[in-house]
Amino acid sequence: MSPSKVTQHAPPGDSSLDHDFHSAWGSVYTNRSTVGDKEILPLWQEYAVDKPAVDRKYHSILSEYTDLFHKVFGGYYPISMHAHATDSLMPTTIASLILNTAATSPLVLDSPTLSPKANEKPEETGMRVRDFALDFLGWTETHVLSPTFVVADNVYGAGYGPLAHASKEWETSAIAAGPKPFVVNMREADEKTLNVRFAEAKAKGAIAVVFDMVSTEDGLVFTPEKFGLVKKCCAKNRLLLIVDETMTAMRCGAPFAFQRPEYAREGVEYQPDLVIFGKGIGVSGIAINFGGVITKGLTYTKQEDIRQTIRFWRALVSRPIRLPILLEALSILRASVAEKWPEQSERIGEAIRDVLYELDPKTKEPGAIQGLGAVVAIDRDIALRFRVMCAIRRRSPWARLLPKLGSASADREGLMKQVFGEESNEQRQVLAQEAEKCGAIPLWCFICGIEATSEDWCRTCYLSYCNNEVCVQAFHRHACK
Ligand SMILES: [Zn+2]
Ligand SMILES: [Zn+2]
Repeated sequence: MSPSKVTQHAPPGDSSLDHDFHSAWGSVYTNRSTVGDKEILPLWQEYAVDKPAVDRKYHSILSEYTDLFHKVFGGYYPISMHAHATDSLMPTTIASLILNTAATSPLVLDSPTLSPKANEKPEETGMRVRDFALDFLGWTETHVLSPTFVVADNVYGAGYGPLAHASKEWETSAIAAGPKPFVVNMREADEKTLNVRFAEAKAKGAIAVVFDMVSTEDGLVFTPEKFGLVKKCCAKNRLLLIVDETMTAMRCGAPFAFQRPEYAREGVEYQPDLVIFGKGIGVSGIAINFGGVITKGLTYTKQEDIRQTIRFWRALVSRPIRLPILLEALSILRASVAEKWPEQSERIGEAIRDVLYELDPKTKEPGAIQGLGAVVAIDRDIALRFRVMCAIRRRSPWARLLPKLGSASADREGLMKQVFGEESNEQRQVLAQEAEKCGAIPLWCFICGIEATSEDWCRTCYLSYCNNEVCVQAFHRHACK
C-alpha cells in the first residue's frame, strides 16, 4: 500500500462495523488501532529510533502489564505467556508450572526443614522439594511422566496435541498426540458420578479438570450450579481447576465469564486455579489465582512471595514476551478498561439477538440462539442466510458470531444496515471495491471459517471460500441479495 493511500482513508475507528463476525476466531476484540494509545505511543516512537532505551524499561513495563492484568481480571496474574492458547494448555506445561508454584511456595521457602540449604548437595534439595510437591498435589510418578486432563465432553478439542483427541473434526483428531484426556459429560453428571469419574481419572494420571463456560462446540452455557459442583469435586479429588477463556474473556459480560455474578456466587470458597487466555488480549497464556481450589493451600498471601514465584517461572524462558507484543498487550488491556468491554459485550449480545428476532422470528424459540453476551451461537443456516462471516467449522451445525467489542456493534440500526439486513449491500460494495483495488480477498471461508483462497469471490456480498469441494459447492448455493 502506498503512503498516499494510507492518508486517504480515515483510520478505522469505533464506528466501523461490517459482516466479519469471525474476527480471526475471536482474537480481534476491536477495530480501533491500539498503537494510537496516547500513553503507549511515546514508547513505540522511542522504540523506532532507540530500541535499547525501551529495552532497558522492559521489567517495569512487564510489571505494569502484570499489575493491570491482575486488576482487570479480578486477582488473576498472567504468569506464563505463549504464542497460542493451545501451547499453554499442554498437560506437561501445566504440570511443570504447578510443580514450580509448589516448590517456590511459602510452605517450602519459609520452612526450616524444607527450604534449600547452602551446605547440602543440590540433588538432595531437588529431591526433597519434589517429594514435598508430589505429596501436596497427591501425585505419583504417573502424574509427572504422563500427566493428562479431565475435559468436558463438549470441549472443542484443541487444534493439535493431547486435547485434539477430544475433537469431533476428523482432521483434528487424526493428528492428536500424547496421552488421551478423560472425557466426562459434566453437564449431566450428578455429584456422585463426577466424584467417581474424577477419582478414576486422578488415579490414572489426571492433574486437572478443563472446561469452558460457553461450549465452542454448540454454544451451550455451563450453568452456575454445575460450575459450583465441578469446583467442589475438583477440591475433593485434588484436581486443579482450569477454565479455558480463550473465546469468552471480555465477551461475556465480565472480564472472565465465570466472574459474572451468577457464577461468582457459587462455591465462593473455591476459585479456578488457572485460566487460559487467548490472543485477543494481545498474547496467549496462563493466568494463576493464588486462592484457587489447589493453589489456596500453598499459602501465598504476601505480594512479595507471589511476585517471586512469577519471576522464577518467567525466568525459565529468555524473555516471556517480546517487547512489541508487550506494548500491544498493554494497550489492549487499557482499551478494555476505557471502553468497558465486559459491559459493552452484554449490550452487543442483546442488540444482535434483537436483530435476529426481528429478521427471523423463529429464532425466538427456546434453544435457537445459544451463547452468552457477545458470544452468539446460531444455526449455521441462519448465518448463511444473513451472509455473516462467522467462526464456523465445516461439520458443525452451529455458527458462532464474535463481533468486535466497540460500541458500534451494539447499534441496532448499524447492525441492520451494515451486517444483517439487505441494506448491508452498500457496505459490502465499499469493502469489495477496496479489496479489488489492492488485490486482496475476504479473509475467511464463508462455509468453514479457515483462510479463504478463492479469487472467484462474491463481489456483491464480499464473501469468499476455500478450495475444499464441500465449501465450493455450498458457497455457490448462497443467496446474493
Ligand atoms: Zn472452506
Ligand atoms: Zn453473494
